[in-house]
Amino acid sequence: MRVTIVGGGIAGLSTAWSLAKQGHDITLIEQGSIPNPLAASGDRHRMIRRAYGDADGYARTIAEALDSWDLLWNDLGVSHYANCGVLGISQFAGDGAEQFRAGLDRMAFEYEYFDAAEAATRYPFLDPSAFRYAYLDHDGGALFSERIARDIKAWLKMRGVDVRLHTRAVSLDPHTASVRLEDDTLVQADRLVVAAGAWTLRLFPSLAEKLMTFRNAVVYLEPPEDLEEAWANAPAIVDIGGKSDGYVLPPIDGVGLKFGAGLHKTIAENPDANRDPTAGEGERIRRMFSPPFSRLDEYTVSEVKTCAYTFTADRRFFSTRIGNTLVVSACSGHGYKFGAAAGRRIAQALETGDDATLARWLRAETV
Ligand SMILES: Cc1cc2nc3c(=O)[nH]c(=O)nc-3n(C[C@H](O)[C@H](O)[C@H](O)COP(=O)(O)OP(=O)(O)OC[C@H]3O[C@@H](n4cnc5c(N)ncnc54)[C@H](O)[C@@H]3O)c2cc1C
Repeated sequence: MRVTIVGGGIAGLSTAWSLAKQGHDITLIEQGSIPNPLAASGDRHRMIRRAYGDADGYARTIAEALDSWDLLWNDLGVSHYANCGVLGISQFAGDGAEQFRAGLDRMAFEYEYFDAAEAATRYPFLDPSAFRYAYLDHDGGALFSERIARDIKAWLKMRGVDVRLHTRAVSLDPHTASVRLEDDTLVQADRLVVAAGAWTLRLFPSLAEKLMTFRNAVVYLEPPEDLEEAWANAPAIVDIGGKSDGYVLPPIDGVGLKFGAGLHKTIAENPDANRDPTAGEGERIRRMFSPPFSRLDEYTVSEVKTCAYTFTADRRFFSTRIGNTLVVSACSGHGYKFGAAAGRRIAQALETGDDATLARWLRAETV
């Protein structure tokens, strides 16, 4: 089968990986580089965690997600996963961290519980007067997304996949699975997969009923010297409690200490607009993390990185079939961890024609 894939984020790359393994003839079209720093998959690391609040379907799918990453590491000859564990920190009853903990309890996933004093002894960057308790799930951690993209790209090229970088699909015909490029050439295949992330609505404006695009930014911080070691050995933090929807990725293996917050996101009609950080944006994000961290004004902002991503109303993932084209959006701010598994599922749907199973899996309705 000839398949064209539009989008070289984790969804497009792992679909190409999975289809190439089955011997299909693949063309992958990416408007930027791979990794593309403007894409949702284009950052240094992303979190994989079992804590999933009330979305038990996604919590159950984590085992498949981890197995699929293992298959990928096997093919790449290297693992890009650090199993550093995942911490939740609750500031008040019923906050996001407490909901994540309730999800772990419902799933009977084990974790360690620390009162605030114990947690601050273990993690000296925390202010024990600013939160109620913390819990550590030893499963989960960080996926090194830039390294993953680079290595899949190299693997695809080695397998003879036609990887076209800096090549934009300007229009397409979903029924004939043909894509028109900027230089007016046509790429024709038997099937088309569109995994265009925040740019999906440019190719399918009618999907605006289902998908909403947002801008957000993350900040990379340099901690004070006496806290460097504590951070180097820290787990990922799924939720800092309170209202900011804040999370942290630790500086493992030199990738940098990253803070991000759901509260910072704003609606973006155009995914390419406002991609330069605004003055003081890094400091504004940093402020959202006190409480529960102490001495945050001693942390230096080293980089602010903007991103564009797409959400559905219920924060699940989405796919739809139009003619010979499958449009997939595995994001809603939490899709990276399922990247390798999503690629395998998308490839399976193309081979079997069973789009309904794929759509249910993406919505975590069946596992
Ligand atoms: C700040 C932030 C933090 C996140 N944290 C986590 C996390 O910790 N854990 C987690 O699991 N998930 C997380 N996510 C979500 C995760 O990053 C996304 O689910 C995932 O990266 C989406 O991958 P994708 O391939 O669908 O989209 P993208 O990575 O956006 O890829 C789409 C690609 O398509 C290309 N493209 C678009 N249009 C065209 C065109 N017309 N022609 C050619 N190419 C085109 C784009 O250039 C882009 O490279 C986070 C997202 C953000 C933004």
